[in-house]
Amino acid sequence: MSTTAFTEPDERTALREAVAKLAGSYGHTYVAEKTTQGEKLTELWQDMGKHGFLGVNIPEEYGGGGGGMGDLSAVLEEAAAAGAPLLMMVVSPAIVGTIITRCGTEEQKQRWLPGIADGSTIAAFAITEPDAGSNSHLITTTATKDGDEWVLKGQKVFISGIDEADVVLIVSRTADAKTGKLKPALFLVPTDAKGLTWQHIPMDFHAPEKQFQVFIDDVRLPADALVGDEDGGIWQLFAGLNPERIMGAAFSNGMARYALEKAVDYAKTRQVWKDVIGTHQGIAHPLAKVKIELEMSRLVMQKAAALYDAGDDAGAGEFANMAKYAGGEVACNALDTAVHTHGGNGLASEYGLGNLLIAARLGRIAPVSREMILNFVAMHSLGLPKSY
Ligand SMILES: Cc1cc2nc3c(=O)[nH]c(=O)nc-3n(C[C@H](O)[C@H](O)[C@H](O)COP(=O)(O)OP(=O)(O)OC[C@H]3O[C@@H](n4cnc5c(N)ncnc54)[C@H](O)[C@@H]3O)c2cc1C
Repeated sequence: MSTTAFTEPDERTALREAVAKLAGSYGHTYVAEKTTQGEKLTELWQDMGKHGFLGVNIPEEYGGGGGGMGDLSAVLEEAAAAGAPLLMMVVSPAIVGTIITRCGTEEQKQRWLPGIADGSTIAAFAITEPDAGSNSHLITTTATKDGDEWVLKGQKVFISGIDEADVVLIVSRTADAKTGKLKPALFLVPTDAKGLTWQHIPMDFHAPEKQFQVFIDDVRLPADALVGDEDGGIWQLFAGLNPERIMGAAFSNGMARYALEKAVDYAKTRQVWKDVIGTHQGIAHPLAKVKIELEMSRLVMQKAAALYDAGDDAGAGEFANMAKYAGGEVACNALDTAVHTHGGNGLASEYGLGNLLIAARLGRIAPVSREMILNFVAMHSLGLPKSY
């Protein structure tokens, strides 16, 4: 029987090292400063794009690296582990880049992918609606045919980074399929389109990337704004949602690594009794537990990405959900443990952990909540009755 090594290929390891070096040269201090100043991570984003890191998953003929989700998730994990996560990577190259690659026309690929690959184009993604939430079958944003054009009308909520995006991929339904099970119609809408506006939603964690309520008031679009086939089915949407979940896991795993490293360093040096605090099992064991949970979480993320890259959409769907769940859990546990290890300093702004404690919670809510993942696993992996 042959054996399989649980290691990544040499190129992936080199990619991780290169990203860690670049993102580490910016680090958490850069992100914190930009956040305080109300600015974007433009320099880091452009630098990552220039080095080819943002488009590692985009096909080479459209300016990308020709890799897959295994590579892209490694990039995001390393950036986050260096204290400089890039939320828009979850959206721009992962969701939108993948959907265009898999479902777009040749013209759409040539128009959008090179910019998404080098970072000069940023794409946002809008599915969530105020009255639908986790139940995407209830979305009401509607596309109506008018001659050669489409007219889009609706409302979205919690849309990340539309203020810094050039284009937003909007999930709608067509007027012919206005109700019932979602038959998604996906539209690429330039953010300067007439009738598209947005309003900032203040959030209790602070980050350079912001969330917005988006208003789509009779936005007129040319026929070629539609990506994929309006009758093509839900797989076109999941061509992007499974990468989103894998990237959500990468974001959380990287954040957990960042917090764990900080906590371990602190535990090795902080001394208030005879020995450093890391000597005490009350401090050491929770850190060891996070380390174990983190390695499990990273493994399931790597498996989800490998299945996706192998073209196994069903397998990838199952494991992308599990990876997102595991990542959300370990990020929360890691941040909680890191704050506690730091004592009072854990909540002092100088140490930068308090804000991340709230940010880590995001991994349990978005892009799909912990409960919806448990519903999915109960039903699809375990064959239990559908509960929703
Ligand atoms: C920071 C941030 C960024 C985001 N960025 C984007 C973005 O860029 N684009 C985008 O489209 N969306 C975005 N979202 C939206 C995100 O995907 C949703 O918040 C998420 O899908 C949950 O939907 P909801 O907030 O409406 O919660 P709800 O659906 O109202 O759920 C509320 C609670 O009820 C639980 N619940 C709901 N249904 C069930 C059920 N059947 N069984 C058990 N429990 C259930 C949920 O798990 C949750 O705990 C973002 C959200 C946040 C917070």
